[in-house]
Amino acid sequence: MAVQRTLSIIKPDAVGKNVIGDIIRRFEENGLAVIAARMVRLSKREAGAFYAVHAERPFYGELCDFIASGPVLAMVLEGQNAIALNRQLMGATNPKEAEAGTIRADHADSIDANAVHGSDSAENAAKEIAFFFSDLDIHSRR
Ligand code: ADP
Ligand code: MG
Repeated sequence: MAVQRTLSIIKPDAVGKNVIGDIIRRFEENGLAVIAARMVRLSKREAGAFYAVHAERPFYGELCDFIASGPVLAMVLEGQNAIALNRQLMGATNPKEAEAGTIRADHADSIDANAVHGSDSAENAAKEIAFFFSDLDIHSRR
């Protein structure tokens, strides 16, 4: 499996719980390296643009309101199979369905406040990384 990059966001609920360190520890212990990081509070407009792929879904408004409700930590993770590995560490979207030991099982309260975002494909990872970071902000460890 090739080395990949993926976008991770620690959402406002997890930032508010002060578990940034616990989440990053899980990435590092599983072979992912943080190669860019930025704390930002998105405007409603920026949130809408980031989640544009979900514009037709019934929860789009709530999703945008939630991600803009407080600061988030956006990161680029790099490693072997980073996209799928990050999704595995995150657990299922609904924390009630998330496997024990995953980030969402341990830190998410609901399907809205579910602690983390992770890119779901190479194409979306490239777009989402470019949304938050320029090439100058990204520092590969390879
Ligand atoms: P994931 O974050 O696991 O990739 P999706 O891309 O399907 O999940 O959805 C994006 C985000 O929208 C989810 O993380 C979750 O916060 C929210 N969401 C998804 N499904 C629902 C739902 N049925 N009701 C409310 N919020 C939802
Ligand atoms: Mg998704």
